[in-house]
Order: sequence, then C-alpha cells, then structure tokens
Amino acid sequence: MKSIMQVKFLDLKKVNEPYFPDLMAATQKFLEKGWYILGDEVTAFEKDYAAFCGTHYCAGVSNGLDALRLIFEAYKLLNKLKEGDEVIVPANTYIASILSVTQSRLVPVLVEPHPDTYNIDPQRVEVAITAKTKAILAVHLYGQLADMDALNQIAVKHELLVIEDAAQSHGASNKNGKVAGNLSNAAGHSFYPGKNLGALGDAGAVTTNDVELYETICALRNYGSHKKYYNLYEGYNMRLDEIQAAWLRIRLLGLEAETTRRREIAQMYSSGLVLPELKLPVEANYGKHVYHIYPVLHPHRNELQKYLESKGIQTMIHYPLPPHKQQAFSQWNHLAFPITENIHLHELSLPMSPVHTDEEINYVIEAINNFK
Ligand SMILES: *Cc1c(COP(=O)(O)O)cnc(C)c1O
Repeated sequence: MKSIMQVKFLDLKKVNEPYFPDLMAATQKFLEKGWYILGDEVTAFEKDYAAFCGTHYCAGVSNGLDALRLIFEAYKLLNKLKEGDEVIVPANTYIASILSVTQSRLVPVLVEPHPDTYNIDPQRVEVAITAKTKAILAVHLYGQLADMDALNQIAVKHELLVIEDAAQSHGASNKNGKVAGNLSNAAGHSFYPGKNLGALGDAGAVTTNDVELYETICALRNYGSHKKYYNLYEGYNMRLDEIQAAWLRIRLLGLEAETTRRREIAQMYSSGLVLPELKLPVEANYGKHVYHIYPVLHPHRNELQKYLESKGIQTMIHYPLPPHKQQAFSQWNHLAFPITENIHLHELSLPMSPVHTDEEINYVIEAINNFK
C-alpha cells in the first residue's frame, strides 16, 4: 500500500526547533544568574516588544486573558470605567475576549462581524452604543486587523475607550505600517505557545502609550505594589516569568521571517484553491494579515474535514461553538447572531505555520480541489 503524506495542523516542536541552540544558551545563562521573577530579562523583553509594536510602554504579564483583565481593572482604578459599564465586543471571537470583560464586572454587548473580514462590523457597533457604553474591545481575529480607523472614529465621536485583543495578530499592520497593539488606548497580547509569537508555556503583555495606565498595570500585576511591601491596590499575581521573557526575546527575533512564510503559504492557498463553494479569507484593504489562522468556509465543512483526515491532513475548527451558545453564558443562549453562527458552522482552519513545506501545502491544495 502506498503510504500517504501526513500534514499536521501545527507542529510546535518543529516551530521551536530552529531556535533550540539559542533557547538552550538563554536557559544556561538564566540558570547561572539565579534570578527568577521580574528581572533583567522581563525588562529587556518589554523594551524589545514595545519597540516591535511601536508603543512607548509594554508590561509583561502572565497570559493574554490576564493582559486584558489588567487593562480593564486599571481603567477602573483610574476612574475611566466602573462596574456595570458596557463594553462592545465581537460576537465572533475566542471566549477569552469576553471573559476578560465579565470577570472585570463590566457588561459585554455582543456585535456581529463583517461577513468578509470576520471581525467586528463598525456599522453595527454604532447601532449598539447606549448611554452606558464606555469602551470597545476590538479583536484582530485569525491575524487580520479589525477596522481600527472606523472603530477609533466612532470612539472619538462617543468618547469611548478602545482596547485591542491582539492575541492572534502579532505584527499585523495597517496602511501606514502601524502595528497591532499600537492602534488603540491599550492592547492585550498572548504568547500562548500556539500563537504567532509563542512562549514555552503561558505568557502575555500589555502595550500602551498611556504612562498612567502602564504604571497602574505594573503595580496591579505584582500584588498592587509599586514599591516592595507597600501596596497601593488590591492587586494580583499576574507576572511574566523571567525564563519565558528570555525565550520570548529569542523567538521575537525570528517573528518577521516567520510572518513572511505564513503570508507565502496563504498566497499559495489563495491562488491554488479552486473548489467550488469554498470561501477563502478576504484580506481587507486597510491592513496586512499575519495569518495566525487560514480560515476557509464550506457548506459541507464536517464532511470536508473528515475527507481531509482520510488523506492524512489535520485541520481545526476556530471555533465549533460561539461564545453566546456556550453553557458558560447560558443567559445569551437564546440570542441569535446569524453571521457569527454561520462562521462557526462552516469554518475550517487549514494547516498553517512557518515550518510547513511547499510540498505539504501543495498536497493540501490538491486534496481539497479533489473533494466531491
Ligand atoms: C489566545 C487568545 C486569548 C487568551 O490568551 P491566553 O494567553 O491563552 O490567556 C485571548 N483572545 C484571543 C482572541 C485569543 O486567541
């Protein structure tokens, strides 16, 4: 029997492998130094990542959810938000975006995405604004920027804060070359291992140009303390580990080349896939996609996924159940968001990573084009 090619959705070990020598050298240095929490490596990564995003400030934190939580909690301490304020969020997102709002005792107001970009639709945002609305949480889903110019205009008009969830969009840029994390008042980033910039465990960051917000978050992540053993706020333990920071500095050096490869693969898919009824991702004219995910929509998504599995091709669904249909949010289960639900019913994520070969991607393209 002819053995078939196996194409993984994402091989994390292979993604990290080119960095092994540098990661080991950094680990050795870390062990010899013997400093584990909030030291030079965290400070250096914060400087590197702020420079990458083009922001004045970056605070390393424990993960992406905590990054967003810290932004909301800090704004509450700074009297820019208060319990019960409404925050507009996309209905089509990973649940963590919405958890950051509810866990901060703010009220999420779900808004449908644009059917082409899959990101929050600014026209629908305007309609959802009430007297209680105080912020918009924009998510750059799948690696594509939300329409930040339109959202920022609405925010200025209605005096709202804008916060980015940049967990899936490291390095995604707008027409002027401004990067995700520098397109709003403050942004939460995740370095979960599977993200475009991944740590070897949990990690995250907040970027902002607002010094007051930055200083409040630096205290909040560390028990609310500005000065050791003196606590201004009832804070948290939401710090970025020294070792993760050391590893992230190394991975950050390779991010641009990795993004270039992701875009090459996306280009191969977009020009090679000709299966009728397959909806390919649409790259918005206002920004540059970094293809954390290459999402396609197909009316027979489940059959297509099974067929690809029989060909040795692993795919994923982002995501099978939208937040408003989750048991965790049973109070919203009766609501209808047809555009969001359509995406969740028909979305399939094709193999995508900086280490997939042309041969693998061509094999996936050929298999999909032969689907009956
Ligand atoms: C991964 C992710 C998060 C959460 O990040 P963690 O580091 O896993 O806490 C938040 N929002 C989006 C859109 C994500 O993809």
